[in-house]
Amino acid sequence: WAKSAGGARWALYDADRDRQDLARYALSAAIPAALERGEFYLDFQPLTSLRDGRVLGMEALVRWRHPELGVLRPDSFIGLAEETGLIVPLGGWVLAEACRQAESWAVGTGPAPFVSVNLAVRQVRRAGLVQEVRALLRHTGLSPERLQLEITESTMMSTAEEPVRALRVLADLGVRIAIDDFGTGYCNLAYLRDLPVTELKVAGEFVAGLRAPEAQADERILASLVSLAHALDLTVTAEGVETAGQAERLRAIDCDAGQGWHFGRPDSAERVLARLR
Ligand code: C2E
Ligand code: MG
Ligand code: MG
Ligand code: MG
Repeated sequence: WAKSAGGARWALYDADRDRQDLARYALSAAIPAALERGEFYLDFQPLTSLRDGRVLGMEALVRWRHPELGVLRPDSFIGLAEETGLIVPLGGWVLAEACRQAESWAVGTGPAPFVSVNLAVRQVRRAGLVQEVRALLRHTGLSPERLQLEITESTMMSTAEEPVRALRVLADLGVRIAIDDFGTGYCNLAYLRDLPVTELKVAGEFVAGLRAPEAQADERILASLVSLAHALDLTVTAEGVETAGQAERLRAIDCDAGQGWHFGRPDSAERVLARLR
């Protein structure tokens, strides 16, 4: 009987899943028209120095103002856009829009914050990446030091030699390269040595551990990560910093910067900059 009950459950599950896949594919197929209609926009979240509280950079996070479904978070459409390849035009738009907006950012007298843009594996593998970024920097007038590209650990690991060369060319131009969600994949130290990386963004789950009073293991892991990164001339930004207590612990272990609700939620660049002034 177990088999038939299991079978029935599977049948139900599959029908559900088919409907979900259909909805996902319909959503993904709508991306090109949505791009044309201007339904995507960017929110920005500050990366704040743990030493002096200055905003070093802002991460661009894409949102889709869908006419029927409301505002969609990237998690509901980026994955599928990656599978279908539509991430290339979408990610291209994000990159261009982020550079365009960042060019006019100014905060007081210090250096203007850089803009940090997430790149999907397809974008990194594309042959035209270097030309695309060069052309964008030329068009917008943004200096290369004010652009950071965020690439996840798994993208880095699955990337062949050619794209790594492209990243090296970009790094030589002065573009910053960050490894996003560091610690959630396979952290292969040889990669850190060989890749043109300037920053590690440590995944929020390590930071979350700092909340508990018995969080000594997480704190020791983070502390050794920070000293390893510094030994390799990399800076470290901790993601998902939600409390003043976490920020304090991160400062104590010499982490360079923090990003998270404690420092500011993602919002329009205008509003984030206004809050800073
Ligand atoms: P991510 O790059 O790791 O971005 C950080 C995510 O953490 C953002 O989610 C942000 O809103 C969220 N977050 C920030 N502070 C906190 C906090 O204190 N606590 C918690 N729990 N979460 C916090 P969001 O905006 O939903 O983006 C999710 C992911 O989607 C991003 O993760 C990134 O991987 C991807 N993504 C966003 N925009 C783009 C894009 O333009 N291109 C690509 N390829 N991926 C993107
Ligand atoms: Mg990111
Ligand atoms: Mg991240
Ligand atoms: Mg993430």
